[in-house]
Amino acid sequence: MEKVKQHFCVSCNREISTIKDSVIFKCPNCGNELARCGKCRGRSVEYVCKVCGFEGP
Ligand SMILES: [Zn+2]
Ligand SMILES: [Zn+2]
Repeated sequence: MEKVKQHFCVSCNREISTIKDSVIFKCPNCGNELARCGKCRGRSVEYVCKVCGFEGP
């Protein structure tokens, strides 16, 4: 069986696969993979990279 990698929103910690318009992107500072749900995107909630501490909109 294949394991499906789950991604959790960096802002609200929800599993993003269930949320419309969610994105996975790389931290502009360190390249760490970050996920963001559509709800937080729509509200422009701030996020913080867990690896390098980069904060971004
Ligand atoms: Zn979110
Ligand atoms: Zn980073």
